[in-house]
Amino acid sequence: MSKQYDAIIIGTGQSGPALAARLAKEGMKVAIIERKLFGGTCVNTGCIPTKTLVSSARAAHVARRGDEFGFTHDGSVTVDMKRVKERKDGGGRLYGRNRSGETGLPASGHPFRPPGHSHLL
Ligand SMILES: Cc1cc2nc3c(=O)[nH]c(=O)nc-3n(C[C@H](O)[C@H](O)[C@H](O)COP(=O)(O)OP(=O)(O)OC[C@H]3O[C@@H](n4cnc5c(N)ncnc54)[C@H](O)[C@@H]3O)c2cc1C
Repeated sequence: MSKQYDAIIIGTGQSGPALAARLAKEGMKVAIIERKLFGGTCVNTGCIPTKTLVSSARAAHVARRGDEFGFTHDGSVTVDMKRVKERKDGGGRLYGRNRSGETGLPASGHPFRPPGHSHLL
């Protein structure tokens, strides 16, 4: 069974979801195809996960320098990498939720059902 769309967007990285929402708002029938993780590299494996790791490292670093910052704490500061990783993996917040593919495109109200790999013939 073939379906007709006004626009087909391949990939849900930096611009795909925003473009799909914009086109849908203009009344176009839009299909969006994502082969792996909704949100693409930045929110799933790039910018955001790496910055959460950096922020955990920074928090531990600052905690160890309490004297300099004018506070004391009992005991040593130890890093639990399992918990750091859990935090990095989203804990169900921003990209954790996107990964499930259940959120749809908020601005368009269109459901999103991953995964799918597009081929141009
Ligand atoms: C470790 C790391 C840290 C980073 N940190 C930063 C940072 O701090 N600041 C910054 O500005 N940038 C950062 N980047 C770069 C940033 O993540 C990328 O520039 C950005 O995500 C690229 O966006 P994009 O939409 O072009 O591609 P992507 O986010 O990769 O999106 C492309 C999407 O299209 C899908 N796709 C591709 N082909 C098909 C197909 N044929 N069918 C179906 N789906 C398909 C892919 O699965 C993917 O989801 C980082 C990257 C990495 C790896």
